[in-house]
Amino acid sequence: MTNTKIEWADATWNPITGCSKISEGCEHCYAERMVKRFPKIYPNGFAPTFHANRLEDPLHWKKPRRIFVCSMGDLFHKDVSIEWVCKVFDVMKRCPQHTFLLLTKRPEIAKAFTETMFHFGFLGSPEPPDIIKTRFSHVWLGVTIESLENLGRAEIALQTGFKHKFVSLEPMLSSFPIGQYLFPAEHRDYFKWVIVGGETGPGARLMKYDWVMYVLDACRRHKIPFFFKKWGGGNKSRLLDGREWNEFPEAMK
Ligand code: SF4
Repeated sequence: MTNTKIEWADATWNPITGCSKISEGCEHCYAERMVKRFPKIYPNGFAPTFHANRLEDPLHWKKPRRIFVCSMGDLFHKDVSIEWVCKVFDVMKRCPQHTFLLLTKRPEIAKAFTETMFHFGFLGSPEPPDIIKTRFSHVWLGVTIESLENLGRAEIALQTGFKHKFVSLEPMLSSFPIGQYLFPAEHRDYFKWVIVGGETGPGARLMKYDWVMYVLDACRRHKIPFFFKKWGGGNKSRLLDGREWNEFPEAMK
C-alpha cells in the first residue's frame, strides 16, 4: 500500500501521473515539484503517463481504504486516453471494499466520461445507467475550486453521473458562496463533503480566517461534513476555532 501524509486519505494510487497547469491554484503544484525531484521515477516528466505496473495495486489491499486516485496528476486531463481511464475504472469496479476519491479541476471531462461510459455501457457492459451508477457508488468525484473565478466547476461537477460528489477548496485563494451547492437543486445534485486547506510550500499565498469560517458556517447550516486540512503558509496548525475538523460523510466511513 502507498501510505500518504494527506490527512483525508489512507492511501494514494497513481496508475496515471502527470498534468499541466490550468488555473491559479496550480501555480505551486506539489505533483510537478515531486516529478522534477524524482526524474528516475518519472522519466516522462509531468506529461500524462500510464503506469501499468501500478494498475492492480488496490486489488491486493484487502483492508478497506480511502484511496486518493491520481494524487500526482489529474485523471481527467485531456491527454489521458479514455482507454487508460477505463482501465482505472475497471479496477475500481473490482474493489468495492475501498472508497476511491477522484479529484479534478476538469469536471467537464468527467461529465463527458460519465455521459458516454455510464450511459451507453461501461466496458461493453449493457447494464442500465442506474445500475452502473450504483456499482460505482464507492467512487466519489471531487472537484477542486480555488477561487471565485473557478466556481463554474461546481455546477458541472454536480451534473456528472457519480452518485457522490465532494469539493476541495484548496488552496483557498478567495471567499466562496459555497452554500448554494450544499443542497439539491433542479437538474443537479449537491456536495456531500467539503475540504478546506491553505496553500503550502515555497511562495504559499495566505488564506483568510473569514473565508474559512464562512464555509464552515454554510456546512453547519446544511449538515455537510467539513474537513479542515491546515492553514498553510508557515502555519502548519490544523486547528480552527480551537479544534480539528476531521469530519467524513457516513457513506465513506
Ligand atoms: S490540476 Fe492539480 S496536478 Fe494538475 S497542474 Fe494543477 S495542481 Fe498540479
